[in-house]
Amino acid sequence: MLDVSHVTKKYGKMTAVNDLSFHLNPGEVTVLLGPNGAGKSTLMKSVIGFLKYQGEITVAGYPNKSVEARRVLGYIPEMPALYPNLTVSEHMEFLARAYRMKDYKDRIEMLLERFELSDKRKKFGDELSKGMQQKLNLCLGLLPDPQMLMLDEPMIGLDPHAIKELKNVIEEMHDQGKTLLISTHIIDSVDMLWDRTLVLQNGLLRANVTRKELDDSNKTLEEMFFEVTEGVSQEHMREDAVSEEELNAEPEKKKSGLFGRR
Ligand code: ADP
Repeated sequence: MLDVSHVTKKYGKMTAVNDLSFHLNPGEVTVLLGPNGAGKSTLMKSVIGFLKYQGEITVAGYPNKSVEARRVLGYIPEMPALYPNLTVSEHMEFLARAYRMKDYKDRIEMLLERFELSDKRKKFGDELSKGMQQKLNLCLGLLPDPQMLMLDEPMIGLDPHAIKELKNVIEEMHDQGKTLLISTHIIDSVDMLWDRTLVLQNGLLRANVTRKELDDSNKTLEEMFFEVTEGVSQEHMREDAVSEEELNAEPEKKKSGLFGRR
Protein backbone atom coordinates (compact mmCIF):
# COMPACT_ATOMS: atom_id res chain seq x y z
CA MET A 1 0.00 0.00 0.00
CA LEU A 2 2.85 2.36 0.85
CA ASP A 3 6.33 1.99 -0.57
CA VAL A 4 9.05 4.28 0.70
CA SER A 5 12.34 3.77 -1.10
CA HIS A 6 15.61 5.46 -0.12
CA VAL A 7 13.92 8.64 1.04
CA THR A 8 16.19 11.36 2.39
CA LYS A 9 15.05 14.81 3.46
CA LYS A 10 17.46 17.56 4.42
CA TYR A 11 16.65 20.95 5.86
CA GLY A 12 19.74 22.88 4.77
CA LYS A 13 22.64 20.81 6.08
CA MET A 14 20.50 18.95 8.62
CA THR A 15 19.39 15.47 7.55
CA ALA A 16 15.94 14.95 9.11
CA VAL A 17 15.17 11.67 7.31
CA ASN A 18 18.08 9.52 6.23
CA ASP A 19 17.73 6.96 3.43
CA LEU A 20 14.49 5.40 4.71
CA SER A 21 13.02 2.37 2.99
CA PHE A 22 10.01 0.34 4.11
CA HIS A 23 6.79 -1.17 2.83
CA LEU A 24 3.34 -1.20 4.46
CA ASN A 25 0.84 -3.87 3.47
CA PRO A 26 -2.80 -3.01 2.79
CA GLY A 27 -4.92 -3.25 5.93
CA GLU A 28 -2.01 -2.87 8.35
CA VAL A 29 -2.01 -0.52 11.31
CA THR A 30 1.55 0.74 11.72
CA VAL A 31 2.93 2.74 14.61
CA LEU A 32 5.76 5.13 13.82
CA LEU A 33 7.57 5.42 17.12
CA GLY A 34 10.43 7.78 17.92
CA PRO A 35 11.53 10.58 20.20
CA ASN A 36 10.84 14.20 19.39
CA GLY A 37 12.93 15.30 16.43
CA ALA A 38 13.33 11.74 15.10
CA GLY A 39 11.88 12.73 11.71
CA LYS A 40 8.34 11.34 12.02
CA SER A 41 6.52 14.48 10.86
CA THR A 42 9.07 15.04 8.11
CA LEU A 43 8.48 11.52 6.84
CA MET A 44 4.69 11.98 6.85
CA LYS A 45 4.91 15.37 5.14
CA SER A 46 7.13 13.78 2.50
CA VAL A 47 4.65 10.94 1.97
CA ILE A 48 1.69 13.32 1.59
CA GLY A 49 3.75 15.38 -0.85
CA PHE A 50 4.18 18.62 1.11
CA LEU A 51 7.98 18.47 1.05
CA LYS A 52 10.64 17.94 -1.58
CA TYR A 53 12.87 14.96 -0.86
CA GLN A 54 15.23 12.52 -2.51
CA GLY A 55 14.02 8.97 -3.18
CA GLU A 56 10.73 7.45 -4.23
CA ILE A 57 7.34 7.10 -2.58
CA THR A 58 4.34 5.29 -4.03
CA VAL A 59 0.85 4.86 -2.59
CA ALA A 60 -1.18 1.91 -3.88
CA GLY A 61 1.35 1.73 -6.71
CA TYR A 62 0.91 5.38 -7.76
CA PRO A 63 3.50 8.14 -7.31
CA ASN A 64 2.55 9.88 -4.06
CA LYS A 65 1.94 13.24 -5.69
CA SER A 66 -0.40 11.84 -8.38
CA VAL A 67 -4.15 12.42 -8.39
CA GLU A 68 -4.66 8.66 -7.95
CA ALA A 69 -2.55 8.59 -4.79
CA ARG A 70 -4.34 11.63 -3.41
CA ARG A 71 -7.66 9.83 -3.76
CA VAL A 72 -6.37 7.00 -1.59
CA LEU A 73 -4.32 8.83 1.03
CA GLY A 74 -5.42 11.05 3.92
CA TYR A 75 -3.33 12.93 6.48
CA ILE A 76 -4.13 14.41 9.87
CA PRO A 77 -1.37 16.87 10.77
CA GLU A 78 -0.14 17.39 14.30
CA MET A 79 -1.01 21.08 14.25
CA PRO A 80 -4.58 21.94 13.27
CA ALA A 81 -4.79 24.49 10.47
CA LEU A 82 -8.24 25.98 10.92
CA TYR A 83 -9.94 29.02 9.43
CA PRO A 84 -10.65 31.58 12.16
CA ASN A 85 -13.79 32.82 10.43
CA LEU A 86 -15.42 29.47 9.61
CA THR A 87 -17.57 27.63 12.12
CA VAL A 88 -17.10 23.97 13.05
CA SER A 89 -19.98 22.98 10.72
CA GLU A 90 -18.64 25.16 7.92
CA HIS A 91 -15.19 23.55 8.17
CA MET A 92 -16.77 20.11 7.78
CA GLU A 93 -19.07 21.21 4.95
CA PHE A 94 -16.20 22.94 3.16
CA LEU A 95 -14.06 19.81 3.26
CA ALA A 96 -16.92 17.54 2.18
CA ARG A 97 -17.51 19.74 -0.86
CA ALA A 98 -13.79 19.98 -1.64
CA TYR A 99 -13.74 16.16 -1.76
CA ARG A 100 -17.00 16.17 -3.76
CA MET A 101 -18.50 13.84 -1.18
CA LYS A 102 -22.12 12.79 -1.58
CA ASP A 103 -24.51 12.21 1.33
CA TYR A 104 -21.98 13.52 3.82
CA LYS A 105 -24.41 15.07 6.33
CA ASP A 106 -24.87 11.91 8.39
CA ARG A 107 -21.14 11.25 8.52
CA ILE A 108 -20.50 14.82 9.69
CA GLU A 109 -23.12 14.42 12.42
CA MET A 110 -21.67 11.08 13.49
CA LEU A 111 -18.11 12.44 13.78
CA LEU A 112 -19.12 15.63 15.63
CA GLU A 113 -21.19 13.52 18.00
CA ARG A 114 -18.40 11.02 18.67
CA PHE A 115 -15.85 13.73 19.40
CA GLU A 116 -18.29 15.80 21.48
CA LEU A 117 -18.36 18.75 19.10
CA SER A 118 -22.09 18.69 18.31
CA ASP A 119 -22.83 21.57 20.63
CA LYS A 120 -19.86 23.53 19.26
CA ARG A 121 -20.98 23.45 15.65
CA LYS A 122 -21.63 27.20 15.50
CA LYS A 123 -18.35 28.18 17.12
CA PHE A 124 -15.71 29.81 14.93
CA GLY A 125 -12.24 28.32 14.50
CA ASP A 126 -10.62 30.96 16.69
CA GLU A 127 -13.22 30.45 19.45
CA LEU A 128 -12.27 26.83 20.00
CA SER A 129 -10.01 25.68 22.82
CA LYS A 130 -6.81 23.86 21.84
CA GLY A 131 -8.39 20.50 22.59
CA MET A 132 -11.48 21.32 20.53
CA GLN A 133 -9.25 22.40 17.64
CA GLN A 134 -7.47 19.02 17.87
CA LYS A 135 -10.81 17.23 17.80
CA LEU A 136 -12.04 19.22 14.80
CA ASN A 137 -8.72 18.50 13.10
CA LEU A 138 -9.39 14.78 13.63
CA CYS A 139 -12.97 15.00 12.39
CA LEU A 140 -11.78 16.79 9.25
CA GLY A 141 -9.17 14.11 8.57
CA LEU A 142 -11.64 11.29 9.16
CA LEU A 143 -14.45 12.81 7.10
CA PRO A 144 -13.34 11.67 3.60
CA ASP A 145 -12.77 8.11 4.94
CA PRO A 146 -9.63 7.43 2.88
CA GLN A 147 -8.26 3.96 2.20
CA MET A 148 -5.00 4.92 3.87
CA LEU A 149 -4.70 7.49 6.65
CA MET A 150 -1.64 8.98 8.34
CA LEU A 151 -2.13 10.49 11.80
CA ASP A 152 0.69 12.62 13.21
CA GLU A 153 0.78 12.45 17.04
CA PRO A 154 -3.02 12.22 17.16
CA MET A 155 -3.37 11.71 20.94
CA ILE A 156 -1.61 14.93 21.95
CA GLY A 157 -3.99 17.49 23.44
CA LEU A 158 -7.01 15.16 23.51
CA ASP A 159 -9.07 14.53 26.63
CA PRO A 160 -9.55 10.92 27.83
CA HIS A 161 -12.94 10.58 26.13
CA ALA A 162 -11.55 11.69 22.78
CA ILE A 163 -8.53 9.36 23.14
CA LYS A 164 -10.88 6.43 23.77
CA GLU A 165 -13.05 7.42 20.83
CA LEU A 166 -10.05 7.77 18.56
CA LYS A 167 -8.83 4.31 19.56
CA ASN A 168 -12.31 2.96 18.73
CA VAL A 169 -12.19 4.69 15.34
CA ILE A 170 -8.74 3.19 14.68
CA GLU A 171 -10.04 -0.29 15.53
CA GLU A 172 -13.06 0.18 13.28
CA MET A 173 -10.89 1.36 10.40
CA HIS A 174 -8.63 -1.64 10.95
CA ASP A 175 -11.67 -3.94 10.79
CA GLN A 176 -12.67 -2.25 7.54
CA GLY A 177 -9.26 -3.06 6.03
CA LYS A 178 -7.94 0.49 6.01
CA THR A 179 -4.19 1.10 6.15
CA LEU A 180 -3.07 3.37 8.97
CA LEU A 181 0.25 4.99 9.86
CA ILE A 182 0.21 6.59 13.32
CA SER A 183 3.15 8.52 14.73
CA THR A 184 3.83 8.91 18.42
CA HIS A 185 6.69 9.51 20.84
CA ILE A 186 4.70 8.11 23.77
CA ILE A 187 5.04 4.35 24.01
CA ASP A 188 2.14 4.01 26.43
CA SER A 189 -0.25 5.61 23.96
CA VAL A 190 0.09 2.77 21.49
CA ASP A 191 -1.29 -0.07 23.56
CA MET A 192 -3.83 -0.37 20.81
CA LEU A 193 -4.34 -2.60 17.88
CA TRP A 194 -1.20 -2.40 15.76
CA ASP A 195 0.30 -4.80 13.27
CA ARG A 196 3.69 -3.22 12.69
CA THR A 197 5.97 -0.82 14.50
CA LEU A 198 8.63 1.31 12.85
CA VAL A 199 11.18 2.86 15.18
CA LEU A 200 12.76 6.07 13.95
CA GLN A 201 15.69 7.77 15.64
CA ASN A 202 17.80 10.63 14.30
CA GLY A 203 16.17 10.17 10.89
CA LEU A 204 17.20 6.50 10.70
CA LEU A 205 14.94 3.46 10.72
CA ARG A 206 16.10 1.44 13.76
CA ALA A 207 13.42 -1.26 13.69
CA ASN A 208 10.61 -2.57 11.52
CA VAL A 209 8.79 -5.32 13.42
CA THR A 210 5.41 -6.96 13.14
CA ARG A 211 3.39 -7.74 16.26
CA LYS A 212 4.01 -11.44 15.69
CA GLU A 213 7.78 -10.91 15.50
CA LEU A 214 7.67 -8.95 18.74
CA ASP A 215 5.49 -11.56 20.46
CA ASP A 216 7.84 -14.33 19.26
CA SER A 217 10.79 -12.45 20.73
CA ASN A 218 9.03 -12.34 24.13
CA LYS A 219 9.82 -8.64 24.41
CA THR A 220 7.54 -5.76 25.17
CA LEU A 221 7.38 -2.87 22.77
CA GLU A 222 9.14 -0.77 25.35
CA GLU A 223 11.98 -3.25 25.78
CA MET A 224 12.45 -3.52 22.03
CA PHE A 225 12.35 0.26 21.70
CA PHE A 226 15.11 0.85 24.23
CA GLU A 227 17.16 -2.01 22.84
CA VAL A 228 17.23 -0.59 19.33
CA THR A 229 17.66 3.03 20.40
CA GLU A 230 20.47 2.30 22.88
CA GLY A 231 22.95 5.12 23.00
CA VAL A 232 20.23 7.73 22.83
CA SER A 233 19.94 9.51 26.12
CA GLN A 234 16.84 8.31 27.90
CA GLU A 235 16.97 11.46 29.98
CA HIS A 236 16.62 13.39 26.76
CA MET A 237 13.56 11.36 25.86
CA ARG A 238 12.02 11.88 29.25
CA GLU A 239 12.59 15.59 28.96
CA ASP A 240 10.88 15.52 25.61
CA ALA A 241 8.05 13.43 26.91
CA VAL A 242 7.17 15.53 29.91
CA SER A 243 7.12 18.94 28.30
CA GLU A 244 4.88 21.26 30.26
CA GLU A 245 2.51 21.74 27.34
CA GLU A 246 1.75 18.04 27.11
CA LEU A 247 1.36 17.58 30.82
CA ASN A 248 -1.20 20.34 30.88
CA ALA A 249 -2.98 18.82 27.93
CA GLU A 250 -3.03 15.27 29.27
CA PRO A 251 -2.70 15.28 33.04
CA GLU A 252 -3.37 11.54 33.37
CA LYS A 253 -0.04 10.82 31.67
CA LYS A 254 1.76 12.56 34.51
CA LYS A 255 0.50 9.96 36.95
CA SER A 256 1.30 6.87 34.93
CA GLY A 257 4.63 8.19 33.66
CA LEU A 258 5.20 8.46 29.98
CA PHE A 259 7.58 5.57 29.95
CA GLY A 260 6.14 4.52 33.25
CA ARG A 261 6.39 0.77 33.13
CA ARG A 262 10.12 0.87 32.79
P1 ADP B 1 9.42 14.44 14.85
O1 ADP B 1 8.13 14.56 14.10
O2 ADP B 1 9.88 13.02 14.98
O3 ADP B 1 9.37 15.13 16.18
P2 ADP B 1 10.44 16.26 12.84
O4 ADP B 1 10.25 15.57 11.54
O5 ADP B 1 9.46 17.32 13.21
O6 ADP B 1 10.55 15.16 14.01
O7 ADP B 1 11.88 16.90 12.88
C1 ADP B 1 13.05 16.18 12.51
C2 ADP B 1 14.22 17.14 12.56
O8 ADP B 1 14.08 18.10 11.51
C3 ADP B 1 14.34 17.94 13.85
O9 ADP B 1 15.69 18.08 14.17
C4 ADP B 1 13.71 19.27 13.52
O10 ADP B 1 14.28 20.29 14.28
C5 ADP B 1 14.07 19.41 12.04
N1 ADP B 1 13.05 20.19 11.30
C6 ADP B 1 11.75 19.90 11.18
N2 ADP B 1 11.13 20.80 10.41
C7 ADP B 1 12.07 21.68 10.03
C8 ADP B 1 12.05 22.85 9.21
N3 ADP B 1 10.93 23.28 8.61
N4 ADP B 1 13.22 23.51 9.03
C9 ADP B 1 14.36 23.08 9.60
N5 ADP B 1 14.45 21.98 10.37
C10 ADP B 1 13.32 21.30 10.60
